[in-house]
Amino acid sequence: YPEVKTLADVARHHARERPDSVALVEGEKQIAYGELDRASTACAAALIAEGVKPQGRVAVLDKNAADYFTLLFGAAKAGAVLVPVNWRLAAPEITFILDDAEAEVLFVGPDFVPAVRYFHGEFKTVRKIVVMGPAGDGDWPSFADWIAPFDTAADPKLDGGEKDTVLQMYTSGTTGNPKGVMLSHWNFLGNVPLREAAAEDWATWTPDDVAQVAMPLFHIGGTGSAFLGIYAGAKLVITRDFDPALVLRQIEEHRIAKVFYVPAVLMFLLQHPACQTTDFSSLKFILYGASPIPLDLLRKSLAVFKCGFVQVYGMTETTGLCTYLPAEDHDPAGNERMRSAGKPQVGVEVKVIDAEGNTLPPRQVGEICTRSRAVMAGYWKRDDATAKTIDADGWLRTGDAGYLDEDGYVYIYDRVKDMIVSGGENIYPAEIESALFGHPDIADVAVIGVPDDKWGEAVKAVVVAKPDSRATADEIIAFARTRIAGYKVPRSVDFVEHLPRNASGKLLKRELRDPYWAGRDRRVN
Ligand code: ATP
Ligand code: MG
Repeated sequence: YPEVKTLADVARHHARERPDSVALVEGEKQIAYGELDRASTACAAALIAEGVKPQGRVAVLDKNAADYFTLLFGAAKAGAVLVPVNWRLAAPEITFILDDAEAEVLFVGPDFVPAVRYFHGEFKTVRKIVVMGPAGDGDWPSFADWIAPFDTAADPKLDGGEKDTVLQMYTSGTTGNPKGVMLSHWNFLGNVPLREAAAEDWATWTPDDVAQVAMPLFHIGGTGSAFLGIYAGAKLVITRDFDPALVLRQIEEHRIAKVFYVPAVLMFLLQHPACQTTDFSSLKFILYGASPIPLDLLRKSLAVFKCGFVQVYGMTETTGLCTYLPAEDHDPAGNERMRSAGKPQVGVEVKVIDAEGNTLPPRQVGEICTRSRAVMAGYWKRDDATAKTIDADGWLRTGDAGYLDEDGYVYIYDRVKDMIVSGGENIYPAEIESALFGHPDIADVAVIGVPDDKWGEAVKAVVVAKPDSRATADEIIAFARTRIAGYKVPRSVDFVEHLPRNASGKLLKRELRDPYWAGRDRRVN
């Protein structure tokens, strides 16, 4: 749509084209595109009345909700920046993000009102709290009541320039403190036409599509995939909070065609008894990604859901997707491509560099870099981190190690920060973890580098054994020796009850590593 220059223009466009088509479904509630546009205008006017100036930050702490999009478009129309906050975080982590973002208004979901009552005194910059949903709480008005006086307000049209930030999304915090990623209208809108140019069926959404928003909107995977649907004028069915039974029921009830799931969610769905009886015939595509997927899980998913599978690889810093593995590369017989995270989408460049920044030839492992319109403007208030991440030519260092094949397909090894350097050899834990998963007594496993006076770092496996397992450290090491090269074999094995993972199911390696490194500096890549 040539007239669409900002996120808010997307809402305006669909209000003109299809005012009565359903945009969002949340439980019993349905919001049509015309209504979404009107409510977001009221929201923009309310933000302005609240004293929020262009580029002012407003935060939302809520489970997935239809009104998240009212807020997103409302903020866009007022030129404000929406900051979605991960509600799984602990109070001090939430406070850290609100302070870091300098959030002026906080929109809090009903589930979190009691907790926020308890610690909102700590917030440094929040001067107004609004409760999402129909009911307020004491001096905190409900969202509905707060926007009601602006019901007939005119669209303020303070969207600003294409390069202005509209969404400040925090990274998942897998490798350190979450960083505020500044995403602009340009970043968001850059992704979509590129995908359309690719003319791939999974990428070409229409107003007739019905999509499910089952992944948290506070991560780019949730908001980014939902945006594909909104941009096309499709119908989005919101899953308020992840629950396998609800997700499965929604697919059948709403005849869902397109979804985005992380690998852990595919695993939970397959394990649920209702999976056997659910009608998946409406599914056209499952997009999946955000963390590596075990091959076994991918094969099982293909057999059960029987629809197109498309892997996506990307990150908050690239407004989501950079590369995708098309459905036709999913051969259950297990060709090499099944292990790939795909090829760059139109308009995206990918290269692999060594530690000195030299571009590497195919099949040599180094750090994956990408360049496109979707690359963030930078990290909020972290110029040093931005400078280390994006070079003068616009190349973003992803922090992921991997290689490209001759056809430009990306293979991801692991995080650069998690790479173990032992006796001068680079070792990628994901490969060892994948081998150890083949051990019948291992339920879960993480591999980390621990300090070693002779080798610099030594490989350690941290294992969650299956109940009744009799596996010993020696036996696991002997097993590893039959599967992987000698220098990658764990020198030691520790047993634990469970492994630390974040909301996206990603292993928190640094948390696991820290006790072993107490008082010592680990090299920084
Ligand atoms: P932080 O940057 O705070 O440490 P994070 O990197 O986990 O957290 P996100 O931006 O949500 O935060 O996640 C992006 C990362 O997820 C990528 O850099 C990559 O490591 C991983 N990832 C994404 N897609 C895939 C995929 N298809 N296969 C393997 N890993 C993936
Ligand atoms: Mg990251």
